[in-house]
Amino acid sequence: MAKKQFKTESKRLLDLMANAIYTNTDFFVRELISNASDALDKKAYLALTDAEIDNSNPFIKITVDKKNRTFTISDNGIGMNKEELEANLGTIARSGSFEFKNNLSEEETSDIIGQFGVGFYSSFMVADEITVISKKVKEEQAYRWYSRNVDGYEVKEAEKDGDGTEIILHIKANTKEKKYDDYLDSQFIQSLIKKYSDYIRYPIKMDVEVTRSTGEEGKTETVIEEKTINSMVPIWKKEAKSVKQEEYDEFYENNYYDYNKPLKTIHYKVEGNTSYSALLFIPEKAPYNFYTTDYKAGLKLYSHGVFIKDEASELISDYFRFVRGLVDSDDISLNISREILQQDYQMKALKKSIDKKVKNTLEKMLEKDREKYETFFDSFGLQLKYGAYQDYGANRDVLIDLLMFKSSFEDKYTTLKEYVSRMKEDQKEIYYACGESIEKISSLPQMEMLRDKGYEVLYFTDNVDEFMVSILMNYDGKDFRSITKGDLGLESEEEKKEMEKTVEENKDFLESIKEILKDKVQDVRLSSRLKSYPVCLVSDDGLSLDMEKVLAEMNQGMPMKANRILEINKDHELFKALQNAWNAHEDLSDYANLMYDQALLIAGFPIEDPTEYSKRLSNIMVKAIR
Ligand code: ADP
Repeated sequence: MAKKQFKTESKRLLDLMANAIYTNTDFFVRELISNASDALDKKAYLALTDAEIDNSNPFIKITVDKKNRTFTISDNGIGMNKEELEANLGTIARSGSFEFKNNLSEEETSDIIGQFGVGFYSSFMVADEITVISKKVKEEQAYRWYSRNVDGYEVKEAEKDGDGTEIILHIKANTKEKKYDDYLDSQFIQSLIKKYSDYIRYPIKMDVEVTRSTGEEGKTETVIEEKTINSMVPIWKKEAKSVKQEEYDEFYENNYYDYNKPLKTIHYKVEGNTSYSALLFIPEKAPYNFYTTDYKAGLKLYSHGVFIKDEASELISDYFRFVRGLVDSDDISLNISREILQQDYQMKALKKSIDKKVKNTLEKMLEKDREKYETFFDSFGLQLKYGAYQDYGANRDVLIDLLMFKSSFEDKYTTLKEYVSRMKEDQKEIYYACGESIEKISSLPQMEMLRDKGYEVLYFTDNVDEFMVSILMNYDGKDFRSITKGDLGLESEEEKKEMEKTVEENKDFLESIKEILKDKVQDVRLSSRLKSYPVCLVSDDGLSLDMEKVLAEMNQGMPMKANRILEINKDHELFKALQNAWNAHEDLSDYANLMYDQALLIAGFPIEDPTEYSKRLSNIMVKAIR
């Protein structure tokens, strides 16, 4: 029988595993138990609709054999046939899209192992030979999968009584760094089961030495007895009061492969029209793939103690997709197919209730534990913003008060409510400015004026921000207003009059600059929003310059352009110098173009024609130096 090679990526991961001596190797035990438990779940699910399947006595059993150096775990779950053995154990399931780097440090290795939950492969950390014997439910033939020293594997026919899977690890010899013998020690394995897998709903059995009285006075004997090591009560079925945070943390880490403790644990029961218990977690950090399509959102669903489905995204709204956890409800009708579940009225009721709970939790956190909420928002604020934007703002009201932005008020997050509470009496709109970073925004020419007036400006640094407010429209009756778009209307009557006068006086002059820049900007205006800067670029009330940037990044078909307007500071030295030049009938084209280029740079756009720019600048330098 020819030996098959592992897929390249798997092979590399396996090498990592085999050499991961500084990582916590203990957790291969919980990985294998968790797989066995899943296999039992799957069989229980099939048995619901198939009377031929005997599901009367589900179990997991672990035995250790010091003499032969084997650790064996078996289950009578769903089992695997030949194709499944190859597909499941020959490639890496969870990490499909991850590109493994070549030279990983120890730390990175353990990160990967932790984050990706490499499951079955973790056995290679402790074993130099692995045998899997499995028989799938309702199939006749059993198969044996065997791999040694991670150099490949083979699958052949085998004998096996009953359904399920038996995995035999040949434990490595001790090295200087690691005492692998521990994994042959029954006591030690029992302690790991208690620690990591106590909540598993199926009995995890081991042969345990027990000393008992022989019946004769004072005489005892030691016998081997099969004992269930775990307490089998799922953590979410316990009273919340009786569960310690460490137990939740442990459960979370084991199930969601996150080294960080959950930021928030939500464990509750609801009795009523739809009764259920839920154990939900809000992670502290977004998983590495959270903002990609690889991320699987949704909650685990159990009913009557039977696992129904993983990643049930119909149980929680997409804008809360960062929530992990499970829901156990006896009110879900069981023998309907997983597809029909989606339509189920009960599922909708569950979702509504869960969404509400999460929202309340976040609101309370925002109110009572600001620091924690900010940590949360750093990780998942973007998701809430997308949520507020999605479906044309259908969820606006749910989310709007959970949003936060940095602002010119102080170097901290502010909610919209807080912003509004600080608004000046004469301030009518909520001001915002977009840019790559807070630094860039706060040095925008347009900021000066608002600062002077004492108006607070929200800093929009995420691409989605401006799109989002264009959908949100307003808050508490106040419109959102970009400081780089259109006319801000900040001047007093007097200032307006003065401006009109200046515009009138400079009509021809402005016309000539406009003529020079006619292919580049829609209009050239005198500005009332500038103080120390000579020029700035703004857009009209349509598409903004920042939206233009974002759309360009998304690169979808026809480039969309914002209408550019060049604004000139009438009080700046440059303006006066230009007037003089115009009066002296000088050619203004170099000046006008350079002003436009400056405005582009300040607004964060590249200069359209660097060669042209350099030529013009040189012309002027030559004139000046001469
Ligand atoms: P994961 O459990 O994350 O999917 P694993 O590498 O641990 O990744 O396992 C890969 C697949 O192998 C599982 O999804 C499952 O289909 C199958 N498998 C593993 N262990 C068992 C088992 N004891 N019984 C049946 N199938 C199993």
